[in-house]
Amino acid sequence: MRTQVVIIGSGPSGLLLGQLLTGAGIDNVVLDRVSRDYILGRVRAGVLEEGTVGLMCQAGGDTRLRAEGLPHDGFSLAFDGRDHRIDLAGLTGGKRVMVYGQTELTRDLMAERERCGAPSIYAAANVEPHGFDGQNPYVTYERDGVSQRIECDFIAGCDGFHGVSRKSVPDTAIRTFEKVYPFGWLGILADVPPVSHELVYANHPRGFALCSMRSQTRSRYYLQCALDEKIEAWTDQRFWDELRRRLPAHHAEALVTGASFEKSIAPLRSFVAEPMRFGRLFLVGDAAHIVPPTGAKGLNLAASDVHYLFNGLLEHYQDRSNAGVDAYSANALARVWKAVRFSWWMTTMLHRFPDTGDFDQKIQEAELDYLTHSRAASTALAENYVGLPF
Ligand SMILES: Cc1cc2nc3c(=O)[nH]c(=O)nc-3n(C[C@H](O)[C@H](O)[C@H](O)COP(=O)(O)OP(=O)(O)OC[C@H]3O[C@@H](n4cnc5c(N)ncnc54)[C@H](O)[C@@H]3O)c2cc1C
Repeated sequence: MRTQVVIIGSGPSGLLLGQLLTGAGIDNVVLDRVSRDYILGRVRAGVLEEGTVGLMCQAGGDTRLRAEGLPHDGFSLAFDGRDHRIDLAGLTGGKRVMVYGQTELTRDLMAERERCGAPSIYAAANVEPHGFDGQNPYVTYERDGVSQRIECDFIAGCDGFHGVSRKSVPDTAIRTFEKVYPFGWLGILADVPPVSHELVYANHPRGFALCSMRSQTRSRYYLQCALDEKIEAWTDQRFWDELRRRLPAHHAEALVTGASFEKSIAPLRSFVAEPMRFGRLFLVGDAAHIVPPTGAKGLNLAASDVHYLFNGLLEHYQDRSNAGVDAYSANALARVWKAVRFSWWMTTMLHRFPDTGDFDQKIQEAELDYLTHSRAASTALAENYVGLPF
């Protein structure tokens, strides 16, 4: 088989890139090691920047998102028993974010891809990129025990943090930067109305909590927890009791509880691999970088990488210029590092670190006080939260 671009990974970055390329008449094949249903069973991000919504529109997958997504003009920082609202729209000249689950976004892109008849191969075992340092790259995989090979012009490694693409690059050609945080997030999903119509990020002596949502009837709640915490130890009742303790009284009283149908613990880390291009192989999204979810940036960064790569490939095929492809890594990384900084800063400001001394605690309190009482500081937060331009 031959195609123009092989896309390894059918997560948001692979599917979004695939749909943009298909729309521009550039042939591509999406390969994933797991099944379509498995991917649609994963619960992950839920806050979309306007740039991400714009790309979904360009990819033709935004109809349901625009009908069912919840536009948010602000969110609350809760500390000292009070809410401090960050007016995103007022501080950024009308910009807002859209709450819409990653699972639904993925479902919409898969449906659009099927409608266009673009090829996707699921349950592909032992996927491997080859020859990307020369002119004739190809990808091999196995399906039903039979070895297959796809020749191509370019390979897009959209296969997440644990994927094969980054691991295929020789150690001498890549540099990685990592910070592991000394806590994780215990998250649940429950079909109960959200405690507030906007997100609440709570800094509390018992640890961080986040009240988020997927719709007006489905809530996503998180608690900062120790890394060695066992999920079995967290009954729903224990989770709700602990969440109440970490919220201001008016939220704790308004909290509607119910049976959870998803519960998981995620470790938090910041990670960046440089560069993001190796000859004819490009790393995109979580394959190249991970951020802690505090700033809601993971999925949005994957989308901005796709923007830069799609435009580079378009220039290559339509204008016979490699300028965009050559600039991909530098352009993507410039935005990646700003989002990595923002996510690290939000994480540092809102969590209780196990080794925090009195001095560090006072600094954190001063930071929150300054942030919520200075328009300049609030504007810097809002500008990053709604997403820097790309
Ligand atoms: C538990 C969890 C919770 C998260 N919560 C949030 C959140 O609240 N907010 C936020 O902004 N971000 C969150 N994120 C991050 C966000 O989900 C990611 O940034 C986003 O999924 C990145 O998309 P991607 O397409 O680059 O990678 P992925 O979504 O990871 O997709 C990669 C795809 O590649 C496939 N793949 C992997 N290896 C191979 C291989 N060898 N061969 C073929 N295919 C392969 C995988 O099956 C997968 O389908 C969360 C992530 C996790 C893991």
